[in-house]
Amino acid sequence: MGDHVHVRLSQGLSVSEAGELIEHSRCRCGATWTKMFDADGGKPEEPSR
Ligand SMILES: [Zn+2]
Repeated sequence: MGDHVHVRLSQGLSVSEAGELIEHSRCRCGATWTKMFDADGGKPEEPSR
């Protein structure tokens, strides 16, 4: 143990209340990840920069 290289197996996608796309992944060892994607990339929601 220790030098285990995680293999992220996709467990599917979901969408948060904020409209973000969330990818769920998990390794055989039991580790899990959630990766968020900004699904509203094109929306002019941010204040002027
Ligand atoms: Zn692992």
